[in-house]
Amino acid sequence: MNSIFTLPKGSKWQYREMGSRNKKTGKLSYYDVTVTDYRISDCECKAREFNKYAPCKHMKRLKEKLSHLEI
Ligand SMILES: [Zn+2]
Repeated sequence: MNSIFTLPKGSKWQYREMGSRNKKTGKLSYYDVTVTDYRISDCECKAREFNKYAPCKHMKRLKEKLSHLEI
């Protein structure tokens, strides 16, 4: 793994990913995607509640932007 950051093991942090636009209100939704030890580990969206073993589209999108992270 190549990274300029050095964080203690078990470190967790979050990125905010844009979700889909609500057709009724026109508002955009945002989801916090959690990264644990440079691994994209969770997202707060409904897709993850439904199937917590598959990465959702927000996690995949974050992976595309931050290729040094694992998923
Ligand atoms: Zn998600």
